[in-house]
Amino acid sequence: MASISSLSAVPRRLEGKVAVVTGGASGIGECTARVFAHHGAKLVIADIQDELGHAVCESIGQKNCKYVHCDVTDESHVKNAVDIAVKTYGKLDIMLNNAGIVDKNKTRIIDNEKADFERVLSVNVTGVFLGIKHAAQAMIPSRSGSIISTASMCSHIGGGASHAYTASKHAVLGLTRNAAVELGQFGIRVNCLSPYPLLTPMTTKYFGKNDQEELENSFKSWGNLKHATLKAEDVANAALFLASDEAGYISGHSLLLDGGFSIVNPTFN
Ligand code: NAD
Repeated sequence: MASISSLSAVPRRLEGKVAVVTGGASGIGECTARVFAHHGAKLVIADIQDELGHAVCESIGQKNCKYVHCDVTDESHVKNAVDIAVKTYGKLDIMLNNAGIVDKNKTRIIDNEKADFERVLSVNVTGVFLGIKHAAQAMIPSRSGSIISTASMCSHIGGGASHAYTASKHAVLGLTRNAAVELGQFGIRVNCLSPYPLLTPMTTKYFGKNDQEELENSFKSWGNLKHATLKAEDVANAALFLASDEAGYISGHSLLLDGGFSIVNPTFN
């Protein structure tokens, strides 16, 4: 029988790896940072919510986690976050471009202001472009690396959120695919995560609901998997897989975590 090397792998699936997580102070990013740390990764958390970011790093343990103030729309900030990872830990293996925003609830395309549209694109698209660019520059010398961006189910369908958000997340998919083609020659894999709505500070704000249980029940009722809701931990575990060597031949992929929502046949019953 052929030997299966992954069966002998230790449970800490990111032992010895170094990761930068943007938007790591809250929601999906915070949860993923904790899962990465649990699996042995050393971290730089990059965010604009300094107090929260410092608190996350403190609870992970300052020896293995550095917090850096980083507005992902500012190239010098993104470069600095990557530089800190390389200076502190000697290299960069994993970049999670996760920072993102959503615009005002249900802003219609005919009413939206150019500046508001561009603000969403600036964080969600330019931020991902800068993350891929500077991570790749740091990874090229070692001829390896995994770059993951948090896209969305809205990367695959229209009408899941505002037009600006949908456009921005389609762009994240496009950046992922192009970068995978460009960077494969350097051993760098580039993928994205495409989650269904889940409860985080972002969605609570977007949907304007104070009752989190009610909001989660809405997510449940819209989806195919009526018994469950998507949790930040599910997204973090998908990120863990894409970051790990187990995903060694996966690149240019959008990993949908939508319970089949985006492929549903509306006439099926
Ligand atoms: P969140 O608001 O909890 O987290 C987003 C984080 O990004 C925050 O910590 C915030 O401070 C940070 N951030 C915002 N602008 C930034 C900037 N300019 N520079 C650096 N950091 C910045 O929301 P979340 O739901 O955890 O979102 C994380 C990612 O997941 C986003 O890209 C979002 O679009 C995506 N996503 C979320 C959902 C959902 O339903 N929550 C679904 C699909 C995709």
